[in-house]
Amino acid sequence: MSRKIIAAGNWKMNKTVNEAVEFVEALKARVSDADSEVVVGVPFVCIPGVKKAAEGSNIKVAAQNMHWEEKGAFTGEVSGPMLAGLGVDYVIIGHSERRQYFAETDETVNKKVHAAFKYGLKPIVCVGESLTQREQGITAELVRYQVKIALLGLADSQVKETVIAYEPIWAIGTGKTATNEQAEEVCAVIRDCVKELYGNDTAEKVRIQYGGSVSAANASELFNMPNIDGGLVGGASLKLDDFEKIAKYNK
Ligand code: PEP
Repeated sequence: MSRKIIAAGNWKMNKTVNEAVEFVEALKARVSDADSEVVVGVPFVCIPGVKKAAEGSNIKVAAQNMHWEEKGAFTGEVSGPMLAGLGVDYVIIGHSERRQYFAETDETVNKKVHAAFKYGLKPIVCVGESLTQREQGITAELVRYQVKIALLGLADSQVKETVIAYEPIWAIGTGKTATNEQAEEVCAVIRDCVKELYGNDTAEKVRIQYGGSVSAANASELFNMPNIDGGLVGGASLKLDDFEKIAKYNK
């Protein structure tokens, strides 16, 4: 079963509109022959400029969050129809920084995943354990729990379109990458969990990324592990040379 590798950048709260447009203009030519699906996860305000800059290229655009309601009294929030109206392809949901700083829970992640599908966006759902949880030996149970709740109530066809990003919190922005074996082990647990819940066909189609200090140096080995279908990339996605190499991981 061949799943297309997805290299998705998560820019977090970085780059002004001008910087974002300039970056994507330059990235376009560099990744035009990449075998992976190339996605940039940009701040909301950069989306219109980045979409325009990416026109005619193979670069897809992700938002970094969304609200689950269509509209209403939710000051500061952005809804699915707003993102869909801008031509956004993917939306990152439940990043550990959102869980940690903005009180996201597994339940709100699940609501957002449903809303994403309702408005034609593909979710990239983040799960992963803290260092304490890894040391407590509960990584597999915790990640299975997060996956199960995130996907609750979805149809098989929707699960097949979902991207799950395994992001051990202790590896995010720390320069500490999980070893290929550690990353593969948990991605296999996730695929197994999807298999139990939705069957083998769905489990073979769902894409599972690794995220946590992915770099130009380690992307190829990680992405070539059997259950790892690409990466969610923070810091390295802000640098043209690095992100190009990650997107072209096998070249
Ligand atoms: C992330 O932002 O999801 C991430 C994994 O960051 P970094 O690659 O910088 O660790």
